[in-house]
Formats: sequence, structure tokens, C-alpha cells
Amino acid sequence: MSSSISFSEQVNRNFDKAAAFTNLDRTLLSQIRGCNSIYRMSFPIKRDDKSIEVIHAWRCEHSQHKLPTKGGIRYSKSVNEDEVIALASLMTYKCAIVEVPFGGAKGGIKIDRHEYSDRELESITRRYTFELAKKNFIGPGVDVPAPDFGTGAREMAWIADTYQAISGGNIDSLGCVTGKPVSQGGIRGRTEATGRGVYFGIREACSIQEDMDKLGLSTGVEGKRVVIQGFGNVGFYAARFLEEAGALIIAIAEWDGAIFNPKGLPVQAVHEHRVEAGSILGYPGAEVLATNMAALELDCDILIPAALENVITDDNVANIKAKIIAEAANGPIAARASDELTKRGVLILPDAYLNAGGVTVSYFEWVKNLSHVRFGRMQKRFEEGAYRRIVSAIENVTQRQFPEEEREALSRGASEEDLVNSGLEETMVLAYHQIWEIRKRLGKGADLRTAAFVDAIEKVAVCYQELGIFP
Ligand code: NAD
Repeated sequence: MSSSISFSEQVNRNFDKAAAFTNLDRTLLSQIRGCNSIYRMSFPIKRDDKSIEVIHAWRCEHSQHKLPTKGGIRYSKSVNEDEVIALASLMTYKCAIVEVPFGGAKGGIKIDRHEYSDRELESITRRYTFELAKKNFIGPGVDVPAPDFGTGAREMAWIADTYQAISGGNIDSLGCVTGKPVSQGGIRGRTEATGRGVYFGIREACSIQEDMDKLGLSTGVEGKRVVIQGFGNVGFYAARFLEEAGALIIAIAEWDGAIFNPKGLPVQAVHEHRVEAGSILGYPGAEVLATNMAALELDCDILIPAALENVITDDNVANIKAKIIAEAANGPIAARASDELTKRGVLILPDAYLNAGGVTVSYFEWVKNLSHVRFGRMQKRFEEGAYRRIVSAIENVTQRQFPEEEREALSRGASEEDLVNSGLEETMVLAYHQIWEIRKRLGKGADLRTAAFVDAIEKVAVCYQELGIFP
């Protein structure tokens, strides 16, 4: 997909646009914008057929204004240094927007995971972790990776295991990576967190009458026609939560094609079909579109790019018909295309805010690892006892017995998953209204992306200013 400037230049262009709305010192702005450290590595691995292959990988720590730094690890053939830097800088801004106390980082290994056996992937992941540890680019207080495109809980478990093996009895070593399986120090709710956060963000946006009126839409998610590109971790869960809230998922695009049904596609059933058949294509009752990119151009209320960057560019922006574009992926809209869509009145929910659910719950996982106790473990039963006593007191006063089911519901203490989901919802709702207010303050010409960047820049700036380094 053509785009005249690189991904990191696009992020910096958004930064500069927002920086112009602030009164911050220019050297301070350049400190915030620049990438602090980057580690490029190459290492050989032995393949199953005994041949040797050299693997190329990166880890970038964009900003250490707060420690540890945090960001996913991506396995993709298209990984390159510029992409890793761009994604790391987005992490700095993302963490600031949702008030997660981390600096931004990102890692990438230039491989297509489908071309490697499980044994080969394990060996690549463990060697990558070892390389990071050698240069102090990983650790619970230094830099904490997480899943991203092409990686998941399994890879995070390999990373944690490798780090533990070489970190000499560090009691906090499980906090070196997040997105782990629950049995390996992970947290309930992390797998679906980014998709759930995307849902919360869209729900908040759709609840604001003033914005919906401008788009000619009713408030609420119910009945909205949604198109999703990328049916992986983020896309699948975003689709599932939107469907539960009454939205119609009318099209799903994957790397090998797209399916469409104006009456709605059942998300779980399409997922099961994909697991069985190896593709979303062939799902009964759905029309197959000519290309996977054609889905982006469908007439819909909400378009959710949830695969890769730069999928809406000068090449196709004129054909985009969505009224709301929810950037679940990082950087899916090229900078010029974003400007054009904003001019046309399209409401863009920016990536730096919208997909921050993953890092938010990663933060909860990291806190859990450092505190060595599951959320809810200490208070669940105590709370339940207290609620039961309140319910009994109400029954005594009112001389009315609650039905057993209602009694149970009223007396339930919060589990780890309840607390995680509630913390995530609070974070996404609060952050949306913060950037919405900033957009209002900035006035005409400012979109939510610019507002989100202003929010992030101002929050990071304070960290430096309070050290007395910058005015
Ligand atoms: P994933 O690997 O689980 O899913 C990506 C999906 O996109 C896969 O199903 C893949 O087959 C599909 N895909 C690949 N090329 C495509 C194409 N050309 N057209 C349509 N579909 C295509 O990855 P993910 O974790 O869901 O990440 C998706 C995006 O969300 C990335 O941009 C990532 O940086 C971003 N993100 C992920 C997280 C997270 O917690 N996983 C957090 C924040 C942001």
C-alpha cells in the first residue's frame, strides 16, 4: 500500500500537529518525540531440516520518562527498524493517555510465524529473550514486552521461562513480560483486553449525542453496521463484544479474503468455521468479496481495521464510506488519508487511545506479579460476608425476603476477572472523556487524534519539567 512517508514519520507528523497546540519548550518537545534507545540484533538458528538461518530482530525503548518501558513483540515479515520505532513511540503516547505508568517500547522479529515449526518458534523466542537480557533490554523494572501481531500467550510463557532461568532467583522475574497464560503468572481478562477496550471506546463514542447527530447516526452501539479487518486476537474480541451489545457485524476481512452478509455474521460461528476450515472463506450464507481490501470500502457505520498499519492510504481513501473508523490496529490510516477523512467529517477513534486496553490490563498483570497475590483473593469472602449482612438487614427492615437468585447476585464479591474488567472500563471511559474535552478546548480543526497526542505530550512533559531539567 503506497504512502509517501514512513510509519515513524507519520507518527511524528501527528506529534508535530499536536505539539503546535502546546506552549512547550522546543527542546523538551524534541526529547519527548525522539527515540531514546534501539537494539538491532541478528542471531543464527538451526532449522528442523538442519539448515542454518540468520534471524533479524529489534527492540526499541522510545522513552524512559517512566520505568519500566512497555510494548508488544511482533512476528511479521514486514517488521523493520522504522516500524519498531514508530510503534514504540505510539506506546509512549498510549500509556500516557490511559495513565499507565510506563515508558513506550516495541520489539519485532522479521519472520512469518507460519513458516516455522513450534520448535523453531520456541528456539527463536528464547534466543531473542536471551539477547534482550544480555543488553539489559528486558526485566520487571527495565522493559516489559507483551503480545502483538503474530505472538500470544505461548510466546510470552517462553519469554518468562527463559528470563527466569537466567535471572538468578529474582523474585519478581515473572513481571518481565505480560500476556502470559494464567498458570504462568498471567491475569484473567488479558487475552480479550484489547478487543474489550476497543468495544468500550466505541461505546463511549457512540453515546455522545452531539457527535452522533453530526454523523446522522442514532446514539448507542445497537443496530450499528460494523466491518472488521483482521479476525485475530483484537478483531475477534472487538467483534464479539460489539455483537453482544447489539451491533451487526456485516463483513469480516482476513489476509486470504473477505466475507459479507448485510444481515450480520455470527462472530463465534465464523471463528469456529475458521478454526475447522483454516479460513473464514466458505462460511455458509456469506458472500465472498472480490478482494480482502474491498471490505474496507463497504457502506457501513463503523469500520474497524484490526490487522496492520497503512491499510487506508491515498490509494483507497476516496472510496471509504464508513462514518466512524475505530483504529484497533496501530497506524492503520496514513497521515494524509486521516486528514482527508477528518475533513469529510468521519469520526476517527485514534489507535493511541482505542487499543490501549491491552497495555492497561498488562499493567494490572505486572502489578499482580510484583505483589505476588491474585486480585480479589484477600477481600472477596470478606466483601461477600458484609454484603450478606446488609441484605439480611434490609430484609429485616422491609420484612421482605429476596429471592435466592437475587440474594446471591447482591452478595457476590468481586473476582479477579471482575476487577480487571472494571478497571479496564474505568480507564477507557475516563480517557475518552479526557481527550473529548481536550478536542473541545483546542477548538476548530482539532480531531480526536490531535487531542489524544496533546494529552500525551502534556502528561510526558510534566515528568521532565518536575525534574527541573526543562522549563
Ligand atoms: P493477531 O496476529 O492475533 O491478528 C491479526 C489478524 O490479522 C490475523 O488473523 C491475520 O491473519 C490477519 N491479517 C493479516 N494480514 C491481513 C490482511 N492483509 N487483511 C486482513 N487481515 C489480515 O494480531 P493482534 O494481536 O490481533 O494485532 C492486530 C493489531 O492490533 C496490530 O496492529 C497490533 O499492533 C494491534 N494491537 C494489538 C494488541 C494486543 O493486545 N494483541 C494491543 C494493541 C494493539
